[in-house]
Amino acid sequence: MLPLEAFKTSLTLPSALVSISPEWKGAENVSLYVKRDDAIHPIISGNKWRKLNHSLTQPFPNAIISFGGGFSNHLHALGFVCFELGIPFTAIVRGNYSANPSPMIEDLIQWETTIEYVNRKTYQRRNESAYLNELHNKYPDALIIPEGGSQTRALAGLQDMMNEIDLEFDVMVAPVASGATLAGIIRALDKRNKCAYTELQDMPSSACNAIGIGVLKGEGYLEELVEQFLPNSLKRENNRHIESNQNTANLPTQTTHPFWHIKHNYHWGGYAKAPSELVAFCDDFNKTMPFEIEPVYSGKAFWAVKDMLAKGKFKDGTRIIILHTGGLQGAR
Ligand SMILES: *Cc1c(COP(=O)(O)O)cnc(C)c1O
Repeated sequence: MLPLEAFKTSLTLPSALVSISPEWKGAENVSLYVKRDDAIHPIISGNKWRKLNHSLTQPFPNAIISFGGGFSNHLHALGFVCFELGIPFTAIVRGNYSANPSPMIEDLIQWETTIEYVNRKTYQRRNESAYLNELHNKYPDALIIPEGGSQTRALAGLQDMMNEIDLEFDVMVAPVASGATLAGIIRALDKRNKCAYTELQDMPSSACNAIGIGVLKGEGYLEELVEQFLPNSLKRENNRHIESNQNTANLPTQTTHPFWHIKHNYHWGGYAKAPSELVAFCDDFNKTMPFEIEPVYSGKAFWAVKDMLAKGKFKDGTRIIILHTGGLQGAR
């Protein structure tokens, strides 16, 4: 068991911001950087630390409960952190892995997590207040953290991430599942106050963009998930959320808010679908680059940037930061 401050010294923070020069068509015309949140800790997936950080304040809760699938990066990160900090942790897992534990579940068992396997129907109730009340009654002293660690408190961790970036840049790209990471980026961009949109017609080449890459089929749905964490001023209808096929001629060219959208053509068939072309892209990337990506989250984000570059979607000179959210454990 470690005190919080000692535990935090085991994290690599601030995470590095590195420049990359892959041999992708069009990459020579832009500046590409990677924010290495994957390197924050060898076990904790990067954005999951960002999202948990502000929930782990002293005095610690007597117990923590959270939710996830059998390969969840969030349960993995939280299970490890709770074990290190000596906080009893209960994981409510969708599906029964007791006969065939995944590597993630095996780790949880090793970290003394109490695992409750639930069926799909029960799992679907994970955000319902009646169900949460039942959990509160069963575990009166426990802090309940939503799936993916995605809650308002999580956004402050993304603000921390953004505060670490000294560089001026034009676009940040990140994968999107539950939406809190992208929402945190958008809110932090809004605070940066360096947004100056010059050529909206050239979307997505205007300054201060956030581009989310949907890792699952969820057009409309993913935007709603993101917006539940945004003030009205940053929601789509007030933020001139422009689809690439929309006529932008009548829009003003100045705005004080960051501009965001989610790309829905890079999910490769759905969550955790890993077609061989995507797997080959990741393998190839991993052989030639100083860090690794995986096909569920980061691989889709890097592929999307490669594809957008090849299609000339960015103006020459655009400074792009890809947030590497981690996730290598889930690929086991
Ligand atoms: C959970 C996760 C995401 C998605 O983040 P959200 O905040 O849920 O949108 C992206 N990348 C990795 C590696 C993750 O584990």
